[in-house]
Amino acid sequence: MVRQLSLEEKAALKMELFQKVENGFEQMFGDGKLDALRTFVQKDDQAGQIVDEIWQWMMEKHIEKDEQTDLVETKRMCPFCGGIGKSREEDNDPRGIVGTQGSVSFKRESFYCGRCRKVFFPSGPKA
Ligand SMILES: [Zn+2]
Repeated sequence: MVRQLSLEEKAALKMELFQKVENGFEQMFGDGKLDALRTFVQKDDQAGQIVDEIWQWMMEKHIEKDEQTDLVETKRMCPFCGGIGKSREEDNDPRGIVGTQGSVSFKRESFYCGRCRKVFFPSGPKA
């Protein structure tokens, strides 16, 4: 079955997204912002927050459409807010564990929740 949005749904989503982009623009370039965001860290933090929010919204809206067909990856769900986590594969440092048989290193999958600005580890599908 081909899934697609109706014209009305598309228009509504686009409006909502454009509103977010507009708000983000104001938070970055609106009156007083050039002076308020002086340092690299301030700029980076503000821009990151805007992008995270838009990313989160995009993911939620997209995943909403999967819910009927049960395609949601439960391991991606943020345990704090129920939002959708972003994969942090690039940050998966191998960790060493020293056991009785010597040391083992393994990679642990982790996700980042843009809304909570927290990293979490999947606990697997809920029983
Ligand atoms: Zn969260």
